[in-house]
Amino acid sequence: MAHQWRGLLREYAERLPLEESDPVVTLLEGGTPLVEAPAISKRVGARVWLKVEGANPTGSFKDRGMTMAVSKIAATDTQMIACASTGNTSASAAAYAVAAGLQCVVILPAGKIAAGKLAQAIMHGARLVQVDGNFDDALRLVRKLTETYPVALVNSVNPYRLQGQKTAAFEIVDALGDAPDIHILPVGNAGNISAYWMGYNEYAGQKAVTTMEESYRNLPAVATHVPQMWGVQAAGAAPFVAGHPIDNPETIATAIRIGFPASWDFASRARDDSKGLITAVPDEEIMRAQQIIAGEAGVFVEPASAASVAGLLRAAEDGRVPRDARIVCTVTGNGLKDTKTALAALPDGGMQAEVVAPDTHEVAELLGLK
Ligand SMILES: *Cc1c(COP(=O)(O)O)cnc(C)c1O
Repeated sequence: MAHQWRGLLREYAERLPLEESDPVVTLLEGGTPLVEAPAISKRVGARVWLKVEGANPTGSFKDRGMTMAVSKIAATDTQMIACASTGNTSASAAAYAVAAGLQCVVILPAGKIAAGKLAQAIMHGARLVQVDGNFDDALRLVRKLTETYPVALVNSVNPYRLQGQKTAAFEIVDALGDAPDIHILPVGNAGNISAYWMGYNEYAGQKAVTTMEESYRNLPAVATHVPQMWGVQAAGAAPFVAGHPIDNPETIATAIRIGFPASWDFASRARDDSKGLITAVPDEEIMRAQQIIAGEAGVFVEPASAASVAGLLRAAEDGRVPRDARIVCTVTGNGLKDTKTALAALPDGGMQAEVVAPDTHEVAELLGLK
């Protein structure tokens, strides 16, 4: 009999730092599709799968970390969670606050924010506070607020978030029967690449850097090896490629528009220890990749997510993709979050101008039907 996925905390309980007494705050996140992409495989001469994280409850992988972090917070007396975010973190935090019966505060820089990106947080009843400053000011403020008052921080510096996020690597190994040869994903604050690296290492029974001491280290290995980790940044926001923080990061892919990544050391080790790399691609290639993923794989992703495939396509052009390698690209968020940017990248904004009479024959003729 078919059964419903129970959410990653229950499915992977033995590998997560959850106590018996902790409540499970879940929207049944995780268990996302690993979709084979034959057209992209053909383009790069390898075997490619997409890990479709836009299928999570709020439309991005942030839900994996949020179910873990908010469950730990719900085990305490704290009544309020807070984050500095203008996008997917705020959407996820707000939704899990609802599930936990907590209040949620989203701190954001004043003025620079389009309401569209915050629609989810607003609908989930989060309290929005705009501060007169930039994103770094907002993050500094939220850290101070959570150190001083009974408010819990759910930005990715919360170590439980990466613990939840590592389960995506488990799901991939469980689906493929072993780890892929190469794993490619977009890099912003670099928490996700760190979390995957942690997950792959745990499943291979190898010791790796981790965000916390775990008691579940002695479980049997599931995978025979770990993949190379390939991170992809946007060219205008590529501190890892530059080798130092970037002051004014700029890219159309807002979810990875980050100049000062929080998980710098952890991600650098993931890259080096896995013999992987972190590269950068220009915005045009990101938008082109978004179109290829939608048009050739049937998956609509947001621009930041397309960076993974853009990086793969670029690597193939440069002759750096090993023939027949097994490659997983994480596509991190749902394209429906920002349809405006997607359409604006198409000729004529994607809108076809043809108007015909409401006549079957005319429509058939237009479509070339005989
Ligand atoms: C948060 C996010 C990223 C960046 O992940 P990091 O862990 O910050 O590197 C990429 N894509 C989407 C859709 C995101 O929401």
